[in-house]
Formats: sequence, structure tokens, C-alpha cells
Amino acid sequence: MTHIDPVFFAERSCNGIGQDAFFMSGQQETRIRKAQQICVACPVLAECAAFNRPLVADGRLTGCVVGGVYAPPRAVRKRVREDAAAQLAIVARLARRDVEKGAA
Ligand code: SF4
Repeated sequence: MTHIDPVFFAERSCNGIGQDAFFMSGQQETRIRKAQQICVACPVLAECAAFNRPLVADGRLTGCVVGGVYAPPRAVRKRVREDAAAQLAIVARLARRDVEKGAA
């Protein structure tokens, strides 16, 4: 299944918010939580998580919050990146289910 880059959704919660709010080191727990709070209310959370999951898994997207999940820096072990990617897969499934319930 092909997923759309969330940047193309005008209704995304991060639209108009500087990228600095989402890129940080893993030591900045407060900033990570603030970014996650923005994501949790995002109407395209499921699509964002699904689109970014492979990018996080192979280290193309690092040191930021996407889809409500912190993507660790490239320097971490591959296993840690894969854990973040697995979290994104769960978010994608759960968020999609919530959207489908809301549409019913
Ligand atoms: S889930 Fe977060 S990073 Fe993804 S589009 Fe929404 S607000 Fe932006």
C-alpha cells in the first residue's frame, strides 16, 4: 500500500509549526512530549505513521517526532530504530481504526 507524505495534508496539526518543534535529541524529554501532544490530535496521524515507518526503520528519518513517536538518532543500534518503527505501525493501525469508527 502506498502512503502519502503528510506534508501534503493542509489539515495536519503541524502545519504552520516550525520543524524545530519536532526535531530534537533523545535527551529532550519535555520537547518530545510537546511534539507528541501535537501529533496525538492530528487528523492525519495514521497516514503520517504509516508513511514514516519505513523511513524510521532504515534510519532515513532520525532525531525527531513523527506520527507521535520519537525516531531515535542514526547512531543508535538498529534494534532501537526498529522498535520505533514497530510503534509507528501500531499507531497507524490504531489511528486508522479510530478514523473509521468516527466515519461510521
Ligand atoms: S502526526 Fe505529527 S508529524 Fe505527522 S502530520 Fe500530524 S502533527 Fe505532523
